[in-house]
Amino acid sequence: MASFIEDIIEADLQSGREKEIVTRFPPEPNGYLHIGHAKAICLNVAMAKKYNGKCNLRFDDTNPVKEEEEYVQSIIEDARWLGWEGDIYFASDYFEVMFEAAVRLIKKGKAYVDDVTPEKMREMRGTLTEAGKNSPNRDRPIEESLRLFEDMRAGKVADGALVLRAKIDMASPNINMRDPIIYRVVHARHHRQGDKWCVYPMYDLAHPLEDAVENISHSICTLEFEDHRPLYDWVLNECGMFPHPPHQYEFARLNLERTIMSKRYLKKLVDEGFVSGWDDPRMPTIAGLRRRGYTPSSIRTFCERIGVAKANSEVEAGQLESCIREELNAAAPRAMAVLDPLELVLDNVPDDYEETLDFEICPFDENAGTRAITLTKHIYIEKSDFAVVPPPKYKRLTVDGTVRLKSGYIIRCTGYEGTPDAPVRVHAEIIEGTRSGQDNSGIKVKGVIHWVNDRSASAVVRLYDHLLIAENKDADFSERLNRQSLIEKEARVETYLADAQRGASFQFLRQGYFCRDAKENGLVFNRIVGLKDAYNKK
Ligand code: ATP
Ligand code: MG
Repeated sequence: MASFIEDIIEADLQSGREKEIVTRFPPEPNGYLHIGHAKAICLNVAMAKKYNGKCNLRFDDTNPVKEEEEYVQSIIEDARWLGWEGDIYFASDYFEVMFEAAVRLIKKGKAYVDDVTPEKMREMRGTLTEAGKNSPNRDRPIEESLRLFEDMRAGKVADGALVLRAKIDMASPNINMRDPIIYRVVHARHHRQGDKWCVYPMYDLAHPLEDAVENISHSICTLEFEDHRPLYDWVLNECGMFPHPPHQYEFARLNLERTIMSKRYLKKLVDEGFVSGWDDPRMPTIAGLRRRGYTPSSIRTFCERIGVAKANSEVEAGQLESCIREELNAAAPRAMAVLDPLELVLDNVPDDYEETLDFEICPFDENAGTRAITLTKHIYIEKSDFAVVPPPKYKRLTVDGTVRLKSGYIIRCTGYEGTPDAPVRVHAEIIEGTRSGQDNSGIKVKGVIHWVNDRSASAVVRLYDHLLIAENKDADFSERLNRQSLIEKEARVETYLADAQRGASFQFLRQGYFCRDAKENGLVFNRIVGLKDAYNKK
């Protein structure tokens, strides 16, 4: 299904208005990228690919106070990981062009230097029903504005003492057009420019100029900027430096259920230690999703499926989860891990018993084949797979009951040690002639349980929940933090998993999909998603 953006691009190519499609992804380097940014990257990359154009990665680094080199590096890494390829630009490299554009506006009588304070500015801006008031400096002579603007650049003016304002219309029904500030004084070290500049352009001046310098054909941004579009066009039109100015189009931003989609809030979670870092596997950041076990293709599939719309909405978390689940279900190697181990002794085999069994690696991958696993006298099963007093419809092991050990034998439970509420060891016997694949005993069992042998490795398993609770949707995010978003368990896993590569993913039978943590030194597995698809495909 083609999006409205594709319709626009195709019409522009047909009419000859555009010859080459150039899109851009323009993050501000003030935090790590999140899944919302992935939507913007996927869209811009897809448009460039489809129409044989290109997509620039441009850092919108016009605010020295919030920007850092660490963020620049992480953004490049994450964009590449998602599949972006292309050239990297920095808006700060265009500061000279932007300054020149501002001077041109002043010379044309389209901008003036004002000494208005932010409070005063707000007061005089008017409301949706009331026009704003002209500043007493609005008709300052051009020569005087030029001189003051040069003073601002020369470092002779304190932060906030003077600003440059566009001279448009204080009665415009669009408040963004009421003489917005386009340049300000900031005495701060810029992460790339150092102390070269102490005047910085505001977004509404900078962004259209950045797009124009790079010959962007379609500047695609999120809906909040719809009301800024007239200003975007005004800047390019009035500065008159670009014969073929770019155009802005807006699409709906991604909001994802039970998470936060704003660098500012995500930074707060990091700074306040609620998460372990920007790449904490609970974070909706690209780095967090990668560490959790998401693949670039699963995120691209997600972005394709949610599509590009003109109206904001909230996407169910399950929709993202089903994209990675589908991939892993088709291809991930299966393995056994016991999250809450309970020892089980097979009483009718010798102490040194070991038997090699065939374990199917992946039922949906014909080429995957089988792997040898070893059954021993002492094994571990899940605590929840044994019950002295079974709840109704219980299909697992009970005293005198039977169950099949995955890829192994049917066993019968003969007793247990400990108390009914807290058994510490289970005793069972192998029923001869029931080996998996060679069973003609006719015995029917209700359940198949997973297990690991006595050589299994101990591992830490981390189970995650959403960052935010489902309730109180309208409350501030700080009141919605889910304090149970991480549960850590000491598990026992097959020896096969002890050699797992960092970042490799598996299906742990009956437990979900897990990824070996890429960062921790020990054996740590992150649960990516559970097995069941909670998301209702419509
Ligand atoms: P944040 O509020 O998280 O800092 P932002 O919009 O300020 O987001 P930028 O770095 O300025 O972040 O964004 C770069 C690009 O990513 C912009 O084109 C923006 O429209 C897009 N973008 C940001 N958040 C989303 C989102 N949730 N869904 C889709 N696109 C987004
Ligand atoms: Mg921003």
